[in-house]
This record gives sequence, structure tokens and C-alpha cells, in this order.
Amino acid sequence: MHEYSLVEALIGRVEAEARRRQALAVHGLSIRVGELAGVDPELLRTAYETFRAGTVCERAELRLTTRAAAWVCPSCDAPIERGAPLRCPACEVPARLVEGSDALILDAIDLEVP
Ligand SMILES: [Zn+2]
Repeated sequence: MHEYSLVEALIGRVEAEARRRQALAVHGLSIRVGELAGVDPELLRTAYETFRAGTVCERAELRLTTRAAAWVCPSCDAPIERGAPLRCPACEVPARLVEGSDALILDAIDLEVP
């Protein structure tokens, strides 16, 4: 499953960061998931609960937020309103997705460092 490989990669990154900073513990992590990335936040949580046992994330709280999709006109850079047709009304060109397609962004890790 997509979400499981995302979580595996996420924990790997946290482990690498914790090692690099010689952290004693990881208390939490903040991640963002793009609205249009095709990732199910609930499945991601379940995957995290499954994978974190025995890793540096064992006692780390997962804070998950969703990043809303944002579209702009590729020609004039005008933002396209939410719910509006995905075309620039002025330039008549299809809008370009600028946010919301990221599968997973790691925003912050709360590390306990010596
Ligand atoms: Zn335009």
C-alpha cells in the first residue's frame, strides 16, 4: 500500500535526522499531506501506528495536516478561486496546480538533544 511505503520512508528520514543530531528521543513529528496526492490520512495514521514500534518514533506523536490544493494561471500567475473552473478567465488557458500534490512533507521533528 502507498501509505505504508510513505511511512517507512518517513521513519527512515526521522531516524537519520535523530542520529545526525545525536538525539536521545523523538517526541513528535509534523507532516503535511497534499489534498490531491491520493494519500488517505487515516490510512497514513494506521500505517504509522503499525511501523513505529521499535523505531525512534515509538513514542513520537504524529501531527498530520492536510495541505489544500491551490491553482494558478501559468500565463499571468493569477490564483484560481477554490471551486471555480480550472481555467484562467482572462487568458483562457488551463490552470496549473501549485500546491496540494505533495504526498508527504515533513515539516518538523521534535528531538530531545543532549
Ligand atoms: Zn491568466
